[in-house]
Amino acid sequence: MRTKLFRAPLKYVQGENCLLKFHDETCDLGSKFLFICSRSAHRTTRPLIEESFEGTKTTRHYEVFGGKSSVGEIEKMRKIVRDEGIEVIVGAGGGSAIDTAKATAHYEHKPVVIIPTVCATDAACTGLSVIYNDDGTFLQYLFYPKNPDCVMVDSGIIANAPVRFLISGMGDALGTYFEARVCEAVDAPSLEGMALPEDRGGVASASMALCERCYDNLLEYGLQAKTACENHCVTIPFEKILETNTYLSGVGADNGGLAVAHSVYNGLTILDELTAMHGECVAFGTITQLILEAAPREELEEVMNFCHEVGLPCTLAEMGISDKDHLMQAAEKACAPGESIHFMPGDVTPQQLYAAMLTADALGNQYYG
Ligand SMILES: [Zn+2]
Repeated sequence: MRTKLFRAPLKYVQGENCLLKFHDETCDLGSKFLFICSRSAHRTTRPLIEESFEGTKTTRHYEVFGGKSSVGEIEKMRKIVRDEGIEVIVGAGGGSAIDTAKATAHYEHKPVVIIPTVCATDAACTGLSVIYNDDGTFLQYLFYPKNPDCVMVDSGIIANAPVRFLISGMGDALGTYFEARVCEAVDAPSLEGMALPEDRGGVASASMALCERCYDNLLEYGLQAKTACENHCVTIPFEKILETNTYLSGVGADNGGLAVAHSVYNGLTILDELTAMHGECVAFGTITQLILEAAPREELEEVMNFCHEVGLPCTLAEMGISDKDHLMQAAEKACAPGESIHFMPGDVTPQQLYAAMLTADALGNQYYG
């Protein structure tokens, strides 16, 4: 039996215009700030953040960041930290800015604050980054000893981001409970646990509580949140889904673990014709996982109905995949050694995965085609 592990951001703040309290929420961390911002995050967050600093004795360096979380970009940010005596690193934007900020803070031993400006993935709350080579190819997952010191989600900013990001974030969140359920059942490690030696990093009950709430919130509030976002409105269901996509799904996956759904995403990324975002692939991967598990019909239909209702893909065509011959290559990649799909009881072969993906696609077409 593994030892259990549960870890999370030290502080999570969410609400409309909460960035007006940025300084109040982070002043305990230091007084010299480096903001690593995507171009759009710089435009939307800086005025609010600056207002929060009025009358304070602090310095703020805003670095507009256009690149990927690559070795070279991280080096560049580390130099700014050392040259200017920066005390707090802030990442504002999507996955790349967030991952660069986390890596910079880790290497320079500084606290890190995360401001996601889209809710499309789990990046904000997790204790790991995806790192790329300078030529843009994937290098490694970098696991940190702790999660971010503070995460601040301004609902007003997310309500004005494209709705597809929110929907994709719901897809990423859809996998969380079902993947964690497999990991808990077979005593597999959580996502963070995968970086630890053999007998550590098991799924705690606290993690499962978050994962279950994650799925419940999607079913209850997903459609209303999507509609609110399409109309740039902040409503209670919209707020529930922001928390679901960012915290429940992020902390849930970090501590709950991965299984088939994320391996399906990793496999699909080798297809040139793929047009779907990360979370959209994870949603299709979740349906595929339920087929592999021979899940009860009601559960499968509940998940498929949810996907159809909010606009997540139930078919290959909806992900841009027209040539089913290529799908076997994706199935092989998804079953590569070290993939989380191997946590499934009895394991899964590429042929079995291929069959399950084709079945998911056929069911999707049959139900909604
Ligand atoms: Zn994910």
